[in-house]
Amino acid sequence: MTETRNIRIQKVAQSRLPQVDFSDIPFGRIFTDHIFLADFNGHEWVDYRIVPMDDLRLHPAASVLHYGQTIFEGMKVFKNQKGEVNVFRPEKNFERFNKSAARMCMPQVDNALLREALTEYVRLEKDWIPTDPGSALYLRPFMFATDKYIGVRPSETYCLAIFACPVNAYYTGELKVKIELEYTRAFPGGTGTAKAGGNYAGALFPARRGQEQGYHQLVWTDGLEHKYIEESGTMNIFFRIGKRILTPALSDTILDGVTRDSLVELAKAWGYQLEEKKVAVSEIAEALEAGTLAEMFGAGTAATVAPVSVVHHAGKDYRLSDPAGWEFAPKAAAYLDNLKRGNEPDIFGWNYSIV
Ligand SMILES: *Cc1c(COP(=O)(O)O)cnc(C)c1O
Repeated sequence: MTETRNIRIQKVAQSRLPQVDFSDIPFGRIFTDHIFLADFNGHEWVDYRIVPMDDLRLHPAASVLHYGQTIFEGMKVFKNQKGEVNVFRPEKNFERFNKSAARMCMPQVDNALLREALTEYVRLEKDWIPTDPGSALYLRPFMFATDKYIGVRPSETYCLAIFACPVNAYYTGELKVKIELEYTRAFPGGTGTAKAGGNYAGALFPARRGQEQGYHQLVWTDGLEHKYIEESGTMNIFFRIGKRILTPALSDTILDGVTRDSLVELAKAWGYQLEEKKVAVSEIAEALEAGTLAEMFGAGTAATVAPVSVVHHAGKDYRLSDPAGWEFAPKAAAYLDNLKRGNEPDIFGWNYSIV
């Protein structure tokens, strides 16, 4: 299935690449030379194009600006010393993009179009893929509603876009998290499984409150009773107690993370007792009190694996042991990093190579 779509390519006259200091790239603020764009005209996707990165023009009534009909994805492209370029499990992101689209009444984008857009775009921007340890080119596909109409209904027209940012190793330092027992990110029947803009806007206020109290990230709990752990801001969450590795089972309030899925597969392959279930806050609280919570870490594309150093629960801070000595998280992080760079045999078939 290599249907050719005729992506029109208009290159920049002069690349900005020589002006970029790759040793000092702030996350998400440096953009490559080009952007992929396509329009949905109410019936079909048209006018696939890769053009110089620039501001977009939007009518002030564009429905995305009022009612937030917008979804996004995030994935990374890696280049190894031999110059080989790999994208990590993009089919999972495409599938999730279309699930998000369906939930938000937005049109589907067929996988062949997404794959071709990504391939052509990455080929054009491949010199922007950093090669330092931990660095990558972050791809941001997204779609938003463009109808010039302020009635509340699904838009008929949309814009699809992909841009990219070179990113360095994600420096976590000490990660302090707070188990959030008051505010809610997602609720049953809501949009929590969709990577939809509004979910993140609604989380800003509680997250800022947590930051004012000294915590970098929140660990969300269920919206009905605040009794079960859900996930963190843009990461799924894992715990290790002895040989058991626990992560909340997927539901309509949890984002189905690609990193989460990959860690679940690794934990199983490495002989851990992997439990995807409802994880009670009380079970974690007891392990914290007893000192048996051996590891706790977030899992997402940006950080891959982010070990937690301090957990706040119900008025008390608990310090975990130094993550450098943990048996699962650091090993899984290193393994995945090597695999994504093509420095580890791809036994799971997770890399999509671009030549
Ligand atoms: C994107 C995201 C994740 C992580 O998903 P990955 O596919 O691993 O990057 C987890 N939770 C939320 C809420 C997210 O938006």
